[in-house]
Amino acid sequence: MNERLQKAVLQATIRFADAADRGLFARLTDKATPETVVEWLRGVEHIVSQTYTGKRKRYVNGSALVEDRTVLYNPRFLEVAEDFELLDVVLHEIGHLFVWDFVRDARGKRCAHHGSEWRLLGWIVGYAPQGSKSREGRRRLIRDVEYHRTNQTEAWKRAVMPLSLLYALRRAS
Ligand SMILES: [Zn+2]
Repeated sequence: MNERLQKAVLQATIRFADAADRGLFARLTDKATPETVVEWLRGVEHIVSQTYTGKRKRYVNGSALVEDRTVLYNPRFLEVAEDFELLDVVLHEIGHLFVWDFVRDARGKRCAHHGSEWRLLGWIVGYAPQGSKSREGRRRLIRDVEYHRTNQTEAWKRAVMPLSLLYALRRAS
């Protein structure tokens, strides 16, 4: 694994662990406790893969192999991506694995790949909550999510926080 990818994986891992610590997955699942999430993150594999060829080499940044708890990265993307774009893709793909392992929809079924659960997770850990999009569009969206997340705006709190946390905050302020 190259050094930049290693750094992004570490950052992404910290974000997931931190969100678990703060109870921010409560709207999605009650199975993601700090202990289970940290243990689970240790089992996620990140591999730079030479299997991207043709059109996929140009357009696919990474892929989540949900049943193998593994993320593949396109080496070409690693070459061209800026650090914040690389982190976005690491978080995005771990997000797919997380939803697959921890989250079920209201009827107890598997969630859609880029469905509402996966999008909410983007607001929690900070990736562009959107599947494929132009590079410019994605960069804008990453910055937008980061702004709301780091400033903990009202819109962000309403989207992400479990009601109990929200009420506790209101009482404290
Ligand atoms: Zn995706």
